Amino acid sequence: MQRDLVTIFGVDIDNITADEAGKRTVELVKQSNKSCKIIVAPNTEFIMMAQKDKEFYDILKKASLATPDSIGVIIGGKLQKKPFKERIPGQTYFRKAIEHGTKEGLTFYFLGGKEGIAEKAKENVLKDFPECKIVGCHEGFFEKDSEEEVIKQINELQPNVLFVALGAPLQEKWIAKHQHELKVDVATGQGGTFDYEAGRIPRAPKWIQKIGMEWLWRLCREPKRIVRMRVLPIFLIKILFAKDKKKSTWDKEGSFEKR
Ligand code: UDP
Repeated sequence: MQRDLVTIFGVDIDNITADEAGKRTVELVKQSNKSCKIIVAPNTEFIMMAQKDKEFYDILKKASLATPDSIGVIIGGKLQKKPFKERIPGQTYFRKAIEHGTKEGLTFYFLGGKEGIAEKAKENVLKDFPECKIVGCHEGFFEKDSEEEVIKQINELQPNVLFVALGAPLQEKWIAKHQHELKVDVATGQGGTFDYEAGRIPRAPKWIQKIGMEWLWRLCREPKRIVRMRVLPIFLIKILFAKDKKKSTWDKEGSFEKR
């Protein structure tokens, strides 16, 4: 499958709409044969984190699909004269994957969030997609010792799509660590999506989403996110002045930052 990619500091991101990403998820399931293909949703924090964390960088590199998930990424595309078709917020992708997956009769598993959140998210998703086959749910706070049990439960159900909402980079690292054990077709990190779906955290009003200010809305609601979000201005300065906006710190030549 030919991918139209935009590379920002070594991170490949698909130039794709949310609807296309939902359809691509179904295609990946069809090709997968339980090989646990990984889907990621790079945002500015992902890109900056990947410059320092080689494990995370390598996971993003081996993803089968990477959806553009932040205003910083969109600006990164524009500055390279390869504008993205659109920004795909996590929940928008999630809903499109559910929509297209349900049409094809795919099965889903929700892993993550506080106790009861995945179940509540399931309940709400079923209101909009009554035919959706959500075969299992599990909370995201479990001890290392119960990990085997969680994987066993998932593998007994063998869902086509495993949504993992543990927050980044934990969810991506968890998926990558267990990629060869998990009997699923596709696994993807979902961050706070179950919290939104469950109604625990309200999404920003549509007009705020449209002008790309959802990050500011989230910051106002959860001020402790400031620590994570401080990378946004740093990213913008770096991308504005970097001679080669495609190269990562891990490339031998032309890295944008001396390590
Ligand atoms: N979470 C979890 N297990 C953990 C840590 C976090 O299930 O060990 C959940 C947490 O309850 C929340 C989600 O992971 O639902 C992380 O959401 P956040 O909005 O921080 O993720 P982001 O979208 O920013 O990556």
